[in-house]
Amino acid sequence: MKEILNFIHGEFVRNTSGKTFADRNPVDNTVIGQVYEAGRPEVDAAVAAAKAALKGPWGRLSVVERVGMLDAVAQEINRRFDDFLQAEIADTGKPAHLASHVDIPRGAANFQIFADTIKTMSTESFQMRTPDGKTALSYGVRVPRGVIAVVCPWNLPLLLMTWKVGPALACGNTVVVKPSEETPLTATLLGEVMNKVGVPPGVYNVVHGFGPDSAGAFLTSHPDVNGITFTGETRTGTAIMQAAAVGIRPASLELGGKNAATVFADCDFDLAVDTVTRSCFENAGQVCLGTERVYVERPLFERFVAALKARAEAMTPGRPFDKDTRIGPVVSKEHQSKVLSYYQKARDEGATVVTGGGVPDMPAALKDGCWVQPTIWTGLPETASVVTEEVFGPCCHISPFDTEDEVVAKINHNRYGLATSIYTQDIARANRMAQQIEVGLCWINSWFLRDLRTPFGGSKQSGIGREGGVHSFEFYTELRNVMLKF
Ligand code: NAD
Repeated sequence: MKEILNFIHGEFVRNTSGKTFADRNPVDNTVIGQVYEAGRPEVDAAVAAAKAALKGPWGRLSVVERVGMLDAVAQEINRRFDDFLQAEIADTGKPAHLASHVDIPRGAANFQIFADTIKTMSTESFQMRTPDGKTALSYGVRVPRGVIAVVCPWNLPLLLMTWKVGPALACGNTVVVKPSEETPLTATLLGEVMNKVGVPPGVYNVVHGFGPDSAGAFLTSHPDVNGITFTGETRTGTAIMQAAAVGIRPASLELGGKNAATVFADCDFDLAVDTVTRSCFENAGQVCLGTERVYVERPLFERFVAALKARAEAMTPGRPFDKDTRIGPVVSKEHQSKVLSYYQKARDEGATVVTGGGVPDMPAALKDGCWVQPTIWTGLPETASVVTEEVFGPCCHISPFDTEDEVVAKINHNRYGLATSIYTQDIARANRMAQQIEVGLCWINSWFLRDLRTPFGGSKQSGIGREGGVHSFEFYTELRNVMLKF
């Protein structure tokens, strides 16, 4: 049985408690490893290592030297591409074509892009006359914030973790990562990469475990943590913010969503169907930016529902490396139950089930896996549970609409504000709506297309702060003002 260890001060370590938990493959629910849960002693050791590393060789590197090291990390991830791919797939069950096009390349790119961006980072400077006739030069310097706690979810484990670790290290911080208990493998593997390319011990640490009363809570409440960056559910974000309040530590929060797609009758129909299919069902719907509400202009409604139904029914479930596989399982039995409970709620609240609504019929070897059917509903009011709450599964509700104002009001009538997408040939209308819909990210005739230099984050209860490009540096550095009189 594979042992999955904590990575502290450049070494793979077990724990003092002897407590382990199972890492399961969601394809068939088999146990693939035993994870050593970090208790307070391990979290204390990881934070102490990270704090000490700030004053060690890492803290003395020039930006150019640090950038060179991050370039090497990116190259080493690419060199060990297959190891990362196997690890990510074992933890998540996602189709290999998806993980090899999205998760692993973006994991490497997250080091590359922030290494590139930091090279051109500047600060402002002002010169003024002082009352006694002398001159003063006031300028900003950016210093690392210190020890950053990185708490991650399971849906895109390597991608979302490196999205934080890349810029944090580029800015000269050190990190303690708490990966999701569901997906411990790639964060652990990254420890080997750090050692291989010579990142000093203590700069990158990994502690495994859960949230409350476990590694997550011990880490985020640790007084020597100087900033917390978190991706996950809005409810957990509330707990993290409360932990951050003690000691007045900054927190960057990327949280849940209930994203809408708007499809106008004048859209490029095939493009809209293709893209909405991806945004609803890719990664088994476990994408924070995914679509769970679709609004279709009334003249196109029936045709669009029929087309999306056909596409959903063509999403063949199966093993990650089978060439016919179009959809994997959801991440765990617990998450499967949650998604299926929403499928039940939709029926109870009177939905028309256009397709899906249950568990697909799988071959005997995969019967214990965490499978759910891609599901489409119509006919529900805007107040229904699956229209208002985040399911985080391969499902959507489709409603007809008649006017632009009506659809904007419906989209905005939700506590979340992460992302939206609009399909139309009328670019003026799309731009008008982009400014009215209360979200952090808006796509027009596309979805999940990202330029990593641009801001990423959510409005309302979908998060606080923006990361990406220079915006990440706002969080991962402290801006200091120096006033020089001469
Ligand atoms: P989650 O909030 O359950 O867990 C995320 C992480 O927080 C895990 O590592 C977990 O162990 C840890 N955690 C839980 N309770 C904690 C506590 N009290 N203190 C410290 N750590 C704690 O989220 P999840 O189920 O892993 O991920 C799915 C959620 O993430 C969805 O809501 C999704 O929308 C959201 N998400 C958002 C984005 C974004 O960019 N906005 C991206 C991906 C996922």
